Amino acid sequence: MQIYRMPVLSNNYVFLLHNPQTQIAAVVDPAEAEPVLQKLGELGATLVAIFNTHHHRDHVGGNTQLLRQFPNAIVYGGSHDRGRIPGQQVFLQGGDRVSFGERQAEVFFVPGHTRAHIAYYFPPTGSEPGELFCGDTLFSAGCGRLFEGTPEQMVRSLSQLRALPDTTRVWCAHEYTLSNLKFAIAIDPENQDLQARFSEVQTLRRQNQATIPTVLGVEKRTNPFLRWDTSPIQQATHQRDPVTTFAALRQKKDNF
Ligand code: ZN
Ligand code: FE
Repeated sequence: MQIYRMPVLSNNYVFLLHNPQTQIAAVVDPAEAEPVLQKLGELGATLVAIFNTHHHRDHVGGNTQLLRQFPNAIVYGGSHDRGRIPGQQVFLQGGDRVSFGERQAEVFFVPGHTRAHIAYYFPPTGSEPGELFCGDTLFSAGCGRLFEGTPEQMVRSLSQLRALPDTTRVWCAHEYTLSNLKFAIAIDPENQDLQARFSEVQTLRRQNQATIPTVLGVEKRTNPFLRWDTSPIQQATHQRDPVTTFAALRQKKDNF
């Protein structure tokens, strides 16, 4: 499975999955249709699936136009997003599986950013790493804002993602890494992995390069929103309990 990353809008990424043997393609969170159609044309591929993580406009904005060009494509989304995702035909729940070519993805129900948010996880195969498409739930060095969910839900959602293997590639839907790292460093200044990541990302961004995909092992060591149970984060928030620690951290970030 080949994955293409397309920057769209001001800071979104759309991901195109391509199976070169069969010339089928799927798209994750098409904010816009144009760049997807262009890439499909270049590859000579047929779009068979749209995998949406949640209903926000910057994730589903291209659905309708893509369906006009590829009327047989199937639109997947979370069951609680019924009525909010254009063209949605499949209403997924946590634990469901979806296939693309010879790969199968596991669906995680990850409410918090929205009440219906899901993530798609393709486990590793003999030759390919695991791939996680997490929408606006987990960002590199950050996490999504809580628009429709509670800190308790978000901790549970992030716990599920944190349990995946360290080698998992994490395809976040926004290029927010540098600004997230500024907050992370302020909260966790002694973390050497974090300092190293910060200088690496500064270099990448100076050269206008993407920081996505990130790797889950790196996130586990550096992302404060996956570290609610470590002492630096507990000290910075003056909390101990996972949910109150996470809630205090999220609030600090919202006011940063
Ligand atoms: Zn969103
Ligand atoms: Fe978004």
